Amino acid sequence: MKKHNFSAGPCILPQEVLKKASEAVVNFNNLDLSLVEISHRSKDFVSVMENARALALEHLGLQNKGYQALFLQGGASTEFLMVAYNLLQDKAAYLNTGTWSSKAIKEAGLFGEVVEIASSKDQNFNYIPKGYTIPTDIDYFHCTSNNTIFGTQLNTFPETSAPLICDMSSDIFSRQLDFSKFDLIYAGAQKNMGPAGTTLVVVKEDILGKVSRTIPSMLDYKVHIGKDSMFNTPAVFPVYVSMLTLEWLKEKGGITAIEKINNQKATLLYTEIDRNPLFKGFVATKEDRSKMNATFNLVDEAHKETFDKLWTEAGINGLNGHRSVGGYRASMYNALPLESVQVLVDVMQELERGA
Ligand code: PMP
Repeated sequence: MKKHNFSAGPCILPQEVLKKASEAVVNFNNLDLSLVEISHRSKDFVSVMENARALALEHLGLQNKGYQALFLQGGASTEFLMVAYNLLQDKAAYLNTGTWSSKAIKEAGLFGEVVEIASSKDQNFNYIPKGYTIPTDIDYFHCTSNNTIFGTQLNTFPETSAPLICDMSSDIFSRQLDFSKFDLIYAGAQKNMGPAGTTLVVVKEDILGKVSRTIPSMLDYKVHIGKDSMFNTPAVFPVYVSMLTLEWLKEKGGITAIEKINNQKATLLYTEIDRNPLFKGFVATKEDRSKMNATFNLVDEAHKETFDKLWTEAGINGLNGHRSVGGYRASMYNALPLESVQVLVDVMQELERGA
């Protein structure tokens, strides 16, 4: 029996995907060679890259709309600076909703003026700021759709005439949005897509080429687009597993189908957090709660030892909260079955019965 894996990332991936991936490590496409020992220029791997890029755009409904999908390296953290390198000429506006937004703001500051238009730092990022005004004289607006550490999520995105850039690392492919509103989306693979080591960047081509600075080749989105995401040796294994996960998602009925299950999982857990007198949610405003990462605490820390023992014995993994929040964080990414959330809820009820 596998663990009920609530890890925040790297995190649970579909079992079918892991099985296929492990087979490809030994013998890929019946070539009698491993996926990781063939040339990335071989036709077998080139078709993996093409398929992965096409599937990403297909899931987001962005085919034939002027977007390109790239599988790059350096994690989402490299996109913090690449976005600014490629797009920040004078001034950019950022919404600060957590640790990752703050890091993106810091990197962008190396390239131009950065306006933090709103922040929830005053309350340890336990809500999403609202009612702010986005300036019009900006090169782009940047936000983080899901705050992995604090467990908040943007449910609406602001209207702006400037290019809309979004770090979707921890909720990409989990819910239906009008993705054509975004001009650039990036996401590290290691949540809803695959193993760490590649980052998906989906960019509308016409926003590029407008800054006057010289961009080093590896950091230039146009260079990667010009080389079909194969400017240098791509992360072959993470890209392959991402392709398998995107195929898995398609078989499941795509984002619309997985969103229904994600909603069920989130409702099941948050209902228990709100009902059970031993627990309280971390996020101040219910409408800002993340459906991917639920953060919660014990009302009375005296129950900690018993609760930790109960969930560990129930085969649950990865429930400890991030050090900047404390308490617990249940990450419920696409591949986590509803049954695992039920096991967690059962354990919470067992704690209540024994208290
Ligand atoms: N943005 C978000 C929302 C994240 O959750 C993370 C990592 N957990 C990052 C950025 C940083 O990603 P990476 O470690 O791939 O650089």
